[in-house]
Amino acid sequence: MFKETIYPEFSWSLSRHKTFLDCQRKYAYDYYIGHNGWKNDAPTISRDAYRLKKITNLEMLFGNAVHDIIFNVIKQYLSTNHIPSESELILRLRNILNTAFQDSMHRKSLWIARPKYYTMLHEIYYNGSLPVEKVNDIQERLDVCIKHFFNSKTFTDIINKRQMRFVEAERFRYMKMNDVKITIVMDFVYRDIQEGKWIIVDWKTGKESFEDRHQLALYAMYLQRAFNVKDLDEIEIRNEYLLSGTHKSYKLNPVDLDKLEEMFGLSIQTMLNYLEDPEQNKPFSLEYFPKTEYEKKCERCNFKELCEMY
Ligand code: SF4
Repeated sequence: MFKETIYPEFSWSLSRHKTFLDCQRKYAYDYYIGHNGWKNDAPTISRDAYRLKKITNLEMLFGNAVHDIIFNVIKQYLSTNHIPSESELILRLRNILNTAFQDSMHRKSLWIARPKYYTMLHEIYYNGSLPVEKVNDIQERLDVCIKHFFNSKTFTDIINKRQMRFVEAERFRYMKMNDVKITIVMDFVYRDIQEGKWIIVDWKTGKESFEDRHQLALYAMYLQRAFNVKDLDEIEIRNEYLLSGTHKSYKLNPVDLDKLEEMFGLSIQTMLNYLEDPEQNKPFSLEYFPKTEYEKKCERCNFKELCEMY
């Protein structure tokens, strides 16, 4: 059950780590100042930070919408064997994007009052409109991503019903390390009985880029612990690139996991240095969290309205 607390629970995630590295002031707004900002009697700064934290941008909105749609299609297929048509899914995606656009342009006051229930796009909130090139880019992605999902290795495996066992469907999972809760977001996990492998699938809606091995190692570490997998060779991590319609698989070795443990040990320790009371996860005051020196990062920041840097 949800419990109200003065300070948030401390938990570590890769996105928290990235935000911390990006700008510590942003990290403070995101993980501390906005806490309890959903309450009407919260201080104005908390309510503002909570509201601004909810802002998304076109690429993120698109990526999340595709992930949710795929998640639901697979879940539905596994329980009913029904596969919706490509045009139906494209329509669903368009509706999500259109609603977000309408919310951002015409329902700002509703969003301000209830930011959890409406969508605000960063581009519109801070610049008043969507850049044409971004809209064209998303338009192109929209047309190919769903098609490539249907033709993907993972979905083909699912419908060909190879000897598989599907692992619980939640996208958010947790593990504990040294008493710290670690959050992991995984798209889809299954066990290929024939090959004797665990396969973790990550859907990518952006362009191929140099992969973050920490993210992959975190997945493998979770799987090892949660399912008592003895050998890393039994774990395959697969990126499905929905833009190009290709996939890539990775395997990890123990050195990758050692490096990961070292990285998040260091990361957690550094974050804890910003706490006045680590027991309660009570942070030092906002001024203690330095602003980034790179103003370029501020352009995409949700909290720039609150920050004199900008
Ligand atoms: S506007 Fe810039 S300095 Fe301020 S919180 Fe955002 S990224 Fe940090």
